Formats: sequence, C-alpha cells, structure tokens
Amino acid sequence: MRSRVPHVSQVRTHCPYCALQCAMRLESNYGGYAVRGDATFDVNSGALCTKGFTAAETLAHPERILTPLVRRDGVLEPASWEEALDLIAERFLAIGERHGRDAVAVFGSGALTNERAYALGKFARLALRTRNFDYNGRFCMSSAAVAANRAFGLDRGLPFPLEWLDRTECLLIAGGNPADTMPPLGRRLGERRTGSSIVVDPRRTPYAAAATLHLQVAPGTDALLANALLHVAVAEGLVDDAYVAARTKGFADVRRQAERADPERAERRTGVPADDIRRAARMLAAAPSAIVLTARGVEQHRDGSDAANAYVNLALALGLPGRPLSGYGTLTGQANGQGGREHGQKSDQLPGYRDARDPAARAAVATAWGVSEAALGTPGLTAAEILGALGGDVRALLVVGSNPAVSAPAAAAVRAGLERTEFVVVCDFFPSETTRYAHVVLPTLQWAEESGTVTNLEGRLLLRERVAEAPAGPRSDLRVLADLAARLGAPGVLPSSDPEAVFAELARVSAGGRADYSAASHARLRAGETLYWPVSQAAPNGTPTLFQEGFATADGRANFIPADESAPHSEAPDDGYPYAFTTGRVRDHYLSGTQTRRVERLVRAAPEPFVEMHPVVAAHHGVADGDLVRVRSRRGSVELRARVTADIRPDTLFAAFHWAAPRAANDVTSDALDPHSRMPAFKGAAVALERVVPL
Ligand code: SF4
Repeated sequence: MRSRVPHVSQVRTHCPYCALQCAMRLESNYGGYAVRGDATFDVNSGALCTKGFTAAETLAHPERILTPLVRRDGVLEPASWEEALDLIAERFLAIGERHGRDAVAVFGSGALTNERAYALGKFARLALRTRNFDYNGRFCMSSAAVAANRAFGLDRGLPFPLEWLDRTECLLIAGGNPADTMPPLGRRLGERRTGSSIVVDPRRTPYAAAATLHLQVAPGTDALLANALLHVAVAEGLVDDAYVAARTKGFADVRRQAERADPERAERRTGVPADDIRRAARMLAAAPSAIVLTARGVEQHRDGSDAANAYVNLALALGLPGRPLSGYGTLTGQANGQGGREHGQKSDQLPGYRDARDPAARAAVATAWGVSEAALGTPGLTAAEILGALGGDVRALLVVGSNPAVSAPAAAAVRAGLERTEFVVVCDFFPSETTRYAHVVLPTLQWAEESGTVTNLEGRLLLRERVAEAPAGPRSDLRVLADLAARLGAPGVLPSSDPEAVFAELARVSAGGRADYSAASHARLRAGETLYWPVSQAAPNGTPTLFQEGFATADGRANFIPADESAPHSEAPDDGYPYAFTTGRVRDHYLSGTQTRRVERLVRAAPEPFVEMHPVVAAHHGVADGDLVRVRSRRGSVELRARVTADIRPDTLFAAFHWAAPRAANDVTSDALDPHSRMPAFKGAAVALERVVPL
C-alpha cells in the first residue's frame, strides 16, 4: 500500500510531532515522499529534526491499520465500518444504561487538531453525555497552565513570539532540554548572539553545558530553588518595586515566603551552590531584558503547579511579564498541546478556554450550541483518574490518538485496568500497546491526509492542509464521531465532518472566551496570514504579544501565588529506594513511540532505552556502561541498559519513556497527582537499582 501526494512539487505542511510545528515541504518521490524544511517559516527557518525529516515514512507504512477491527473470540478481526460503529454504539448505550452515562469515558490527545479536539469534547458532552473525558495533555502541560491561569488569568505557552527568545538578554530555562526535544529551537538558542543563559536541569545536557550558568538541581526541588532566587532578589534590592506596585498584587505573602528560602538553606536540598543561586538572580535582574521559561522538569511533580508559580513569582518580582523581550512562558510539548487544551476536550473546560464551572461561560456555550446549560454536564474525572478507574467505575473507554498503555504513569496498572475494562475502543492509524486491549479498533487518518489547524507553542494558529491521499479504509476522526453521534441518538451534535466547517463553528463558539478564535478562519490561514490568539472581533489581526497593557485578571493585575517549597515530595528517596528517577525524551523518538519506533532511521539512531547514572552509582552497584540493570519502584520495574555519565547528579537516574514493557520507564513512574492540575508526578519517583546478572 502506498499513499500518494498530489503531483505538485513541495506542498507545504507542518510536522506532526512537537509543538514547535516546524514547517516542511512534501514532494512526491517514487510513490513515497521527500521532506525538506520550509525556509519561509520563521519558527524553523528550514531546519527540521530527524523526526521531522522522516515524518512522512509513517504515511505509507506497511503496518498501517486499513480496516476496522472487532474482537471475536479474543482475536481482533477485520470488520466493516457499519458493523464496528453499530457495535460501539450498542455497547456504549448498554453500558451507560446499566451503569450510568459516566461509566463510558473518553481519552483524547494533544496530537489532535483543534477541530478534532473540539469535536471530541462536544461529542463526549452531548452524544455520550458522560462527565468523564480528558486528554493526554493533562500529562504534559496542565501544571504550567494552572500556574499561568492563576497568575495572569490566561494560559498561552509563550505570551510573546518565539523570536524573543533569540533577542532577550538573559534566558532562564528550567526543566527543559530543547536540544533533544525541539532540536531546531535548541540550535537556534545555541546560536544566540547576545546575552546570557541559565539552565536548570539535574542533567548536564549539551544544552546545559553550553549555558552561561548551569544549576544542577535535585529533581523535585524547583519551588525551593525559585524561592531562593527570589530571596536573593529581595535581599539585594533587585525587586522592581514600581512594577510590583503598579501591575501585581499579593507580593507581601510571597516575599515573606522567599525570605525564609535563603541560598545556604536551599543549597542543602536543591544541591545548587548558594553562590550560583546568587549569581543567577543577579544575572536575571541586571539584564535589560530577561525571560523565564519552565518545562516538564519543573511541572511533572506533585507540586508542579506551585513550582511553576514560584518561577512566575520570580519573573513578576523582576518586572518581566509585559515588558519588551521579557516575560514568563512554558515550552509546550505535543503538536497541539496548546490548542488541545483550549477547545473543550476536557470536562473541566469549555471551548474558548472557558472554565466549565463558570456560570457565564456555561451560559455562553449552551446558547451557542442551542442546548440547556445542564446538557453541558459538570467536570468529571481527569486523565490519570480515568485510567485509575478502568475496570471499576469506568466500564467502557474511547481512546482517540493516544497510547496510555505506554505513556501513562504507573503504566503496568493502567494495562491491568485496560484488561479489566468491559469495552475498549481505540481510534488510531497504527496498532499500539493500547490497541492490544481494544474490543474495537477504528483506523483513522494521519496528519497529512486531513486538513485542520493546530496552535503552536506561541499561540499561533497554523493550517495543516490535506496534502496526501489517504489509503482506502481509514476515516477521519470527525467522520467517525459524527457517525457515532448519529447512532447514539444525537445526529446534529457535529455540524459536519468537514474540518473547515467544524473550525467555523469552533471559532464562533469561542467568541468571548479566553482563547477567542472568532475572527480566524481556514481561508485567512490559507492566505498566509499570521494569527496569534486571541483573534477576536476586537483584535481581528491577532495578538502576538500579551500583557503589554494589563493582565487577563478581573483587575488587570498579575497575582503572586505563594509556592510552598516544603510541600510533600511525591516520593522522596529513602533507604529502600535511594535514587530520584526522572524521565524525558531523546532526540529520535516521540512520546510513546507508536510512530517513531516504526521509522527505520530513527530506530537505528536510538534502538533501545537506557538509564543514565553517575559513575559513583555505577561503581557502587558494580555496573559497567552497557550492562543491563533493573530499575525498581513501588509500582514496578524495568530493565534498561546502563549509560554511565558524569553529567547526571549522583542521586538521580534518568530514562526516556518511549518504549513499551518490559522496557517501559513508565512502569516505574509515580501516579501521584498535583492537587491543582491533576498532573501526574512523572518525575517524582524514588527507585532502587540493581545489576541484572546474566543467567
Ligand atoms: Fe517536528 Fe518538533 Fe522536530 Fe520540528 S522540532 S521537526 S516540529 S519534531
């Protein structure tokens, strides 16, 4: 089977993987594709990483699912679309009738386009009428989102254009490794001509090594480190008092908290030398412009949202947000991690990034949809809670574009839950570790086979046009949801399976919300307009830069949020589990690896997972580089190759999470949740290490 691109040379599209959304050009090439970077798009200026260059290899991949599959006598067998859709509707209705509507849950994805995310949320609310729906972006962005919403009244990953990162005088990145996760951005930051950089990371990554200052923090102590940086700012008179007085509120409490976080005390827990803490605070304060960014290393902890707020507090005290070339932001992960959290794909939120608990927001969306407010339902379980309830309160699950059997925390328990679940439906284009548990698999389209918009890490809307013909068999998520809605007795829920029509409805419904897209359209994006949200009737040309005049809070002031650095760690290392275990990504794979583990060039570049450990740790356990070791937590264990390096702290182990059991790092990670964001503490596990002795 081969998909085809129309025979026009160099069709423009965007990469399917991360939130940088590099532009690329596809060209038909001997029945397949050639991919090159698009130099006209300022985000990547023609650069792509290995994942982008090979992205088209999944389109014509021989393992593609081409027909619906229905489990009969324990085996997934080909079925017609009619049979599969009828069965799903029948089972969802029957389970809902027996156990209540909330027994059917939905698990979506940050990879879905805005149109698909919107449609999935509307489908869950109005066709399934369940309260239990969420998406895997909860694993990735939710703590930073909570922090930004609390502080600024609005969460857009970067509230300024990406190019500010090139030009700001001092750039602090805490818990991010763009050289591996977003290589074109990593390279771009490495080429910064002016100013200084500070990297906060337990690993001395190449990016950290190249920084002006590397703060090699102990995992899970970011709130204390940020408070200590603020302590220095207060103690040394570096706070921008005029800005704090004019543009913020709540500083007094945060200041008192920071005063307790003196650098010497912070050094004992964070492991960062007090002199380096002082130096970092002075660098940020002395720079004419400065940006503070957080990423997953800060956020994927039980106190992730407070830790992110601690960095926001630092930025506010230094007067950065709303100033030229300055501010606070977060590096979004998934392709549409930003847009995926704006359009109602999760039960606590309505389209337009509205709060589902806000009566005014509910009234606006109910009116726009022509339904009663009660029909919108109320917030239900979040992502990890849905997975934790599998086989219990959750009897049926619809998964769209996600592979939680690999990507969820404490993944072995999730797989056991999937096994117990009465009825599992997965919409995907490849078999995955999650489809193994499915009763029905519906084959769907890939990124290049369907038009749709995504919103990149800057809040910029991008149109990915349909540029490849899909093979016969798979259908779009939009069509699947429309057909299922009709079978569930809600035929009018989705206006159409045409992405442009769905976007038009999404834009209309978002009017007045925080993420207002009401003046945006496929036509404008197709015409090449650059649109950052809000793209509202009041700001029809979009808003590249936020917070210049005021914040999106009721009184226009930003909120300082106290960040308690003594909050319990999700799992502090102890005698039985003496190491902090942190996870992340490698350059050549993406998330659960469903796509990238099928691309030969990527597999050759990164064939198997590894665990990084300090030479002192390796010597203590009699481990040599390349040995097989077992990493064990209270939830499970994983066998990995040892990579011995002095670039990691001696109290910390690191592994990438792209591989499936028995090499799944997430079999070890913690499913403790941040109480505000409900984000799992992926980077907050305590583990033991042992060498695997060959038999
Ligand atoms: Fe794709 Fe991200 Fe790589 Fe760019 S950096 S090519 S968007 S995976």
